[in-house]
Amino acid sequence: HTRFPKPSKTRYIAVANQKGGVGKTTSAINIAAALALAHSKVLVIDTDPQGNASTALGVKHNPGDLSTYDVLEGRKTIAEVKQQSPAFKNLEVVPASIDLSGAELEVASMENRNNLLKDALSEFMKSSKTHYDYVIIDCPPSLGLLVINAMCAVNEVLIPIQAEYYALEGLGQLINTIGLIQKHYNPGLLVSTMLVTMFDRRTLLSKEIYDKVHEHYPHIVLETTIPRSVKISEAPSFAQSVIEYDPHGMGAVSYREAALEIARRSPSVLKMIKNKEQRS
Ligand code: ADP
Ligand code: MG
Repeated sequence: HTRFPKPSKTRYIAVANQKGGVGKTTSAINIAAALALAHSKVLVIDTDPQGNASTALGVKHNPGDLSTYDVLEGRKTIAEVKQQSPAFKNLEVVPASIDLSGAELEVASMENRNNLLKDALSEFMKSSKTHYDYVIIDCPPSLGLLVINAMCAVNEVLIPIQAEYYALEGLGQLINTIGLIQKHYNPGLLVSTMLVTMFDRRTLLSKEIYDKVHEHYPHIVLETTIPRSVKISEAPSFAQSVIEYDPHGMGAVSYREAALEIARRSPSVLKMIKNKEQRS
């Protein structure tokens, strides 16, 4: 498998959109799998109580299993909780289970409640003998404390945008919220990537959505779009990424392309995006 360029420092990327069903989990796990296959070392952190990323990556996440919940509540370290992906040697997963749905309330009164994940990650990275190229965080469909924790722990946000009529509704609110997190908690946070998902090349609408996103965010949106594909939606029921389930199909090919585009976002490209953002 071809090697992608590796970042010199670990890149921390949260995959976020407060809308459900737009392709966050699908994009997080397939991009992670594609990067791992291309010889990058990847840690996926599931922060959605639904645990869909954990399911799709084939790791255990029954109620009571060690998970992100134990990490946020300070009972366990990431080192103790992470699991090896059964499919990819370079991929590890911090799973989530329904237990995590209690966490938002349980940590709400803690003083460092926004930085629980960030602190756990920096402790882990300091003690880990392994170097990680990417940490990819799959977020739940909300703008609550779990998502704030994710956004305080990363420097990049990847926003999947579903190619459908209401796609851009809510995007403004998401960008505003990210702006508030930048201002109050994490000045280094950057919307580095947008990815148009469930693209249907037979419809004018899909192209119109892409063009609109491109018009507003020309440097942020990936050229690659992810097609609507039955294989992509079937793969999780086999506890697989589409990269394993249908390696030569359009779904896998486009997620590998998207991952390569992400890998090519060098520090200077990211800096250019940051500068454009500050001027807009
Ligand atoms: P989110 O994490 O944003 O809620 P998911 O990634 O779980 O969204 O996707 C929502 C649903 O759409 C899932 O059933 C998933 O399998 C399906 N899906 C995601 N991307 C595609 C695609 N490109 N083609 C077909 N189905 C998709
Ligand atoms: Mg999801």
